[in-house]
Amino acid sequence: MYILKIYNDQKVKNIIALCILLAAYCFMLNMVISPLFIRSSIMLPPDTKTAFKFLGLWGRKKSTVWVYIAFRCSRLFPAPALRRLPETACVVCPIAVFPYCRYSFFTMYKLSDRTAGFTDSVIRRMTRISMKYGAVNLSQGFPDFDPPKEMLDRLAAIAHTGPHQYSITWGAQNFREALSDKQSKLMGRHIDPEREIVVTCGSTEAMMAAMMTVANPGDKVIVFSPFYENYGADTILSGAEPIYVPLHPPLFNFDANELEAAFKQRPKALILCNPSNPCGKAFTRDELTVIAELAKKYDAYVITDEVYEHIVYAPHTHTYIASLSGMFERTISCSALSKTYSITGWRLGYIIAPEEIIEVARKVHDFLTVGAAAPLQEAAVVGLRFPAAYYDNLLREYTERRQLFLKGLDDLGIQHTTPEGAYYVMLDISEYGYESDLDFCEKLAERVGVGAVPGSSFFKENVNSFIRFHFAKKHDTLYEALNRLEKMKERMRKR
Ligand code: GLN
Repeated sequence: MYILKIYNDQKVKNIIALCILLAAYCFMLNMVISPLFIRSSIMLPPDTKTAFKFLGLWGRKKSTVWVYIAFRCSRLFPAPALRRLPETACVVCPIAVFPYCRYSFFTMYKLSDRTAGFTDSVIRRMTRISMKYGAVNLSQGFPDFDPPKEMLDRLAAIAHTGPHQYSITWGAQNFREALSDKQSKLMGRHIDPEREIVVTCGSTEAMMAAMMTVANPGDKVIVFSPFYENYGADTILSGAEPIYVPLHPPLFNFDANELEAAFKQRPKALILCNPSNPCGKAFTRDELTVIAELAKKYDAYVITDEVYEHIVYAPHTHTYIASLSGMFERTISCSALSKTYSITGWRLGYIIAPEEIIEVARKVHDFLTVGAAAPLQEAAVVGLRFPAAYYDNLLREYTERRQLFLKGLDDLGIQHTTPEGAYYVMLDISEYGYESDLDFCEKLAERVGVGAVPGSSFFKENVNSFIRFHFAKKHDTLYEALNRLEKMKERMRKR
């Protein structure tokens, strides 16, 4: 009687009608419409475990699984959103639609496995964490001061005159000519702007394009460790297999025998970051000669990242490995304008290499990005034509920042590395007893208000005892960071 009464209630009738409509909608969507569009992606898993792993549900709570199934089948939410569903949200289970939707349950696109071997960039993640806690961001290396005024004025003028459409895919003519004039002087040979340059979207694209130009899937590539984290992802994305060779702290020297052992595995290339991020090593001419001789002996390419080429502190100097005898032929020199002109956001980089290599690199670049931003290339030409005094001044200013920051750390009794080039210092945090340097950096941003990068993101070895700061900041910013770091010892003790 009671049930009959309920069924007679108009509200309940409406709800039942709504449920029927919803079920009919889901039935239509899943059984009729979806299969028309996703015929080719139907996956029939061999067993439940594979199916659950594929869906990212293996090992999750039962309630999560049910909610996933129901939501997924009703197509109310896209799969990626569901994968992040917190366990606590799994209370409601609109199971009503499930019987109609089994068919579409396995008709989802499988994502590529390519990125499974790495996380998002920890360096860039630390910028977001710094912002969250209002920390002075000494993690991701970029300046907080302006680019040269001449370049900004030129950019403002270009806003009204253009160019605003694509440049030639491998770089605007005048940009390549200006770059050729500048780099020819530095590298000690004429760089042909027509045949030996590709302009890219930052050195990040340059490195990736260089890797894809050189390496076939399965090829080996030597990477010094510690290394800038992009190289790990670059090798994986291009299908290559890294062979890591340690740079031994505190001076971050390599052992020639260890390096030769790596070359004996017949790598296709070696990646050389000079001056090195994160350890600040400026490779000497002798060290570069050892690398060059091995590259020649074992017939390997050298892919460089020389984005800090103008930031090498006296008495150290920068030597381009491409300028050593017999090396231009086998070197793919990558660099960018980001650090030299304080324009990291303009994303202007380049590859310099012999014509046969550039021909291939241009194809990779063309299909990856078409080209670097045309108005920004145009504005940057002014910078590329700056006289030598600009670079002297840049180095003087970085030398001052380095001195200020290192002295500040010394005064606080904080041990650190002393960079020969680039703008990074590494600190040993073993005394604090943290198991995870990532955890340390998050707490440092929160409790002390300074952003750093956990060293583990640079080391292949299981190293958790370093963090990295950069000092490409105004003096005031560095003073503020040092003031806050005064509290580091007290606030970072494990509680
Ligand atoms: N090279 C800089 C660093 O190591 C910035 C990296 C980046 O995010 N492109 O912090």
